Amino acid sequence: MQCPVCQYTNSRVLESRSAESGKSIRRRRECLQCQHRFTTYERIEFVPITVLKRDGKRESFDRSKLLRGMVRACEKTGLSASDLELIIDEIEVELQQRSQREIPTQEIGELVLQRLKSLSEVAYVRFASVYRQFQGIRDFAEALNHFQTDEQPRSEVQETALPEDRPPSIETPPSLCSAS
Ligand SMILES: [Zn+2]
Repeated sequence: MQCPVCQYTNSRVLESRSAESGKSIRRRRECLQCQHRFTTYERIEFVPITVLKRDGKRESFDRSKLLRGMVRACEKTGLSASDLELIIDEIEVELQQRSQREIPTQEIGELVLQRLKSLSEVAYVRFASVYRQFQGIRDFAEALNHFQTDEQPRSEVQETALPEDRPPSIETPPSLCSAS
């Protein structure tokens, strides 16, 4: 990185910080020749992410679609739309940095779950009911075991299904989807 004062091309990094919700890195540098201090921004090169759907079809990663699914799963859980957008920001950055260009839908679901887990148990279980149904009852029961509550079971599986998702399989009893 060329010094704006003396054009010397070597500098040392004094400080690195993430900026723009993790979309860029801000670096404070010092020129090794004249000691002038300047700031650079390193941005992630945008490469389209392709999502590989369960039916084998491909489509480009659509953050608003993912957000809609998450908003539905997170209704009345105290998580705001901006909390959810922040999660999507992080996931998008993570996917951008992979060499793998086609990401299976269920892998994106798992990335969402990893983050929801620490934020809201109800949102986690609701989202898991949508994204893990294809793996059968065992995974679903395991997800619930982490967060089993004494609340009355309620069927919310249908409401949280994303438009492109298959209806919940019959081996997933609605009574397992205990939600607020
Ligand atoms: Zn310089």
